[in-house]
Amino acid sequence: MSYEFHTKQLLRGIQSARVREAFNRVDRSQFVPRTHQNEAWADHPLPIEDQATISQPSLVALMTEWLDIRPGDRVLEIGTGSGYQTAILAELCAEVHSIEISQILATSAKQRLDSLGYTNIHVHPCDGAQGWPSAAPYDRILGTVAFPRKPDALLEQLGGDGSLAVLPIGPAWQTQTLTRYLVRDGKCHATNCLPVCFLGLREE
Ligand code: SAH
Repeated sequence: MSYEFHTKQLLRGIQSARVREAFNRVDRSQFVPRTHQNEAWADHPLPIEDQATISQPSLVALMTEWLDIRPGDRVLEIGTGSGYQTAILAELCAEVHSIEISQILATSAKQRLDSLGYTNIHVHPCDGAQGWPSAAPYDRILGTVAFPRKPDALLEQLGGDGSLAVLPIGPAWQTQTLTRYLVRDGKCHATNCLPVCFLGLREE
């Protein structure tokens, strides 16, 4: 099957032309280990280093659509992993801060993203449970790792009305709820989007 065929399938239901274009500009095979190249476009997660996984591509597209990124936005991501989702975010916004607790993954993602020519991504090798306050506020926050409960300290790093976060909330490796938090009238309003299953937040 061709690359075009796979991406068409993966983008079924994605309305935003910007998200479709960004998705088509990032080649997932560059982020997938050599051992799994033949599955690079299969619609399921794949193992990467340090017991992590690169997320399922159709879910990456959907979460990106829900994030509704505007070109000037500053985005915070928790869970860099391979850097695949990070690259898609970077295609759509002005600046991405991405936090990864695994030193191995943070180093290899940074090298990969640098070699692909991204200059608007900052990878921070540390625990992202409390976000990255020094570059706050953010227009958008995305979690690609599950938070056990609503992370108030992280959500406080959102900017004013219209800023939003998309985060999996719930226990590790069980069904979690992908939740969208939107700031309106100075308050954070939650909407449940979809049942998902992400790695749980690791502690240092
Ligand atoms: N979006 C990534 C996949 C992320 S998997 C991709 O497309 O490749 C979840 C990642 O979250 C893993 O790499 C894991 O190491 C990282 N992680 C787990 N706990 C974390 C924490 N407390 N802070 C930052 N990153 C964390």
